[in-house]
Amino acid sequence: MRLSLLSLLLSVAALSPACSQSHADQPNTVAAVPTGSKGATVTAAKYPVAQPVTGKPGEYAVVKTDAEWKKQLTGPQYYILREEGTERPYTSKLNDNEAAGNYYCAADHNLVFSSATKFHSGTGWPSFYAPATAASLKVKSDGSFGMSRDEIVCAKCGGHLGHVFNDGPKPTGLRYCMDGDALTFEKK
Ligand SMILES: [Zn+2]
Repeated sequence: MRLSLLSLLLSVAALSPACSQSHADQPNTVAAVPTGSKGATVTAAKYPVAQPVTGKPGEYAVVKTDAEWKKQLTGPQYYILREEGTERPYTSKLNDNEAAGNYYCAADHNLVFSSATKFHSGTGWPSFYAPATAASLKVKSDGSFGMSRDEIVCAKCGGHLGHVFNDGPKPTGLRYCMDGDALTFEKK
């Protein structure tokens, strides 16, 4: 009985094409957030958010050719950052990383997240409820896989890092669902 439930959960996780909306082993905490209450708004406002992608020339400080990126990045890094790929869930060693420190874009060492906002989402991908700074990330809408999701890219190089959903925990209610292979971690 236990074994069959586990294999069912595993197959559900394996079917997810990317950071999905489902939480396999954690109740959705968004209902507990007192949305609209004064206290929650004030608390969330202290945290930086991803800025919208403008699509204008010169938007990204770091611009390289595909050949240059291929030379610099590992295969998995190139697949995620430059081809908008997604790593298999539960494969990144950063998923369960609980050490205190900072997370950087693997392409250009742009500071993107702090361990202070990391949480266990149960999705199999490293998850955070806020970016490190307002200059860390940019967001654009993404309709791939038939899902309406907001894509998260590095604000410095435009590299794909993951997606953001509005079913995250307090205090922001956001879940930045990241590909660990697109990030590097440095202990404090
Ligand atoms: Zn970057």
